Amino acid sequence: MSTVPTIDLNNGVSIPQLGFGVYQVPPEDTKEATLTALEVGYRHIDTAQMYGNEKGVGEAVRESGLDRSDVFVTSKLNNGFHAYEDAIAAFDLSLETLGFDQLDLFLIHWPLPGIDIDFVETWKALEEVYRAGKAKAIGVSNFQPTHLRRLIQESEIVPAVNQIEVHPYLTQEDVRAECTEHGIAIEAWSPIAQGLVLDNPAITGIAKEHDKTAAQVVLRWHIQRGDIIFPKSVTRERVEENFEIFDFELPDGDMGLITALNQDQRTGPNPDEFNWIP
Ligand code: NAD
Repeated sequence: MSTVPTIDLNNGVSIPQLGFGVYQVPPEDTKEATLTALEVGYRHIDTAQMYGNEKGVGEAVRESGLDRSDVFVTSKLNNGFHAYEDAIAAFDLSLETLGFDQLDLFLIHWPLPGIDIDFVETWKALEEVYRAGKAKAIGVSNFQPTHLRRLIQESEIVPAVNQIEVHPYLTQEDVRAECTEHGIAIEAWSPIAQGLVLDNPAITGIAKEHDKTAAQVVLRWHIQRGDIIFPKSVTRERVEENFEIFDFELPDGDMGLITALNQDQRTGPNPDEFNWIP
């Protein structure tokens, strides 16, 4: 079985660089899908209050027979709970739904810059959760450089991660630079752009050379760039395929070719404009 590298976050907490994402996994299928990932060897699961499937993740971790401390679990605050007290209560509900005493990582899911609650207020609630020892690390998701700068200026704890959309068609160099400057790790969501990049001729060509699949090449590109990733699939073969990315290396030339595919193309919403509350 492959050994997954870990990354040390800015507070010393260690996170497996490859995990399993459960966005769009129906709640009734989540326990099974997560158990499959844990069987294959994944030790990092990315869920969110918005996905409605935290319960299945918690059940799978318990049924897997693994120690809770051996599985890194992330969840995220739902839009609509950004007020300080709401965020604290929503966090506690996440713990209860998962059936855990502590989360490994908890994120503000979206900055929601257009709503009347400032994300700095929301962040103070996450700082409180962290200080109480209820989450080992806290971070943000979908924060743009301007959001990050304000958050850092106006609060005490620097986020451990920023989880943003990244793939070969959206390399996000500006956000990456801002994160690097502040020691914030990058988590790349939709790492294969939900499949969109897999038939790109440059990527399929590189895959052929390495006797790997296009998905494996793109996931490997992320790993070598230092991104933390958690591709999603409910098909066991693909869950296995996405795990087999530590037995080859992309030379600098291939890395550069893939990075040059950037076209600033998002598959998801633009965080500067997204203010949706469920
Ligand atoms: P992804 O890039 O992981 O793609 C998933 C899709 O690709 C699925 O439809 C799957 O069937 C297909 N796929 C997976 N492996 C494949 C393979 N080897 N070959 C061919 N097709 C394959 O996209 P995603 O699910 O949107 O993102 C991954 C995770 O990121 C999510 O599950 C979630 O945890 C997280 N996420 C976070 C946010 C956020 O706002 N923070 C947004 C979206 C996703």
